[in-house]
Amino acid sequence: MNTVAAVVVFLGVLSLAAGQSCPRIVTRAEWGARAASTSVLPTFPPTHVVIHHTVTGACTTIAACSQIMRSMQNHHIDGNGWADIGYNFVVGGDGNVYTGRGWNRQGAHTVNFNSRSIGIAFIGTFTSGNPTAAAQNAAQQLIACGVAQGQIARNYRLMGHRQGAATACPGNTLFATIQRWPNWTSNP
Ligand SMILES: [Zn+2]
Repeated sequence: MNTVAAVVVFLGVLSLAAGQSCPRIVTRAEWGARAASTSVLPTFPPTHVVIHHTVTGACTTIAACSQIMRSMQNHHIDGNGWADIGYNFVVGGDGNVYTGRGWNRQGAHTVNFNSRSIGIAFIGTFTSGNPTAAAQNAAQQLIACGVAQGQIARNYRLMGHRQGAATACPGNTLFATIQRWPNWTSNP
């Protein structure tokens, strides 16, 4: 193999390792986010992944999910007085991941865990039903992608919001579901 061929093969392997498991991630510009500035994570890579539900209506299209993203961001900034939408990422019923604060940013979603976690919220209310299969797959792909890219610690702990605070979040049904996902722990 000559040098050029070796480089081409090497780059191919690199792109596979980095991109193989990443879902489609809708950018802030694509969903129409307001400009916002948030701090980097004090603990990086983050050691925890916290799952939430948004307690909003559900959505199955980019247009409808983007509208909910804009509405949540307005509520979190104007209503709660936060710097930005609280979550790092949000997953729609359409199977897309929407960028919240993004990687390596401190979120506002789970007291005592914000400085060392990535908060992922499913759009909808999951007290008596699960997110779509597409949404569940996208979230798990996002976590795998984050680990592959070094954005999440390899030995991360997966938890539901209710394990860190007195809340019903992420809903009884979704909380039961994530207990079957890789790295869920009863003792975060
Ligand atoms: Zn929550």
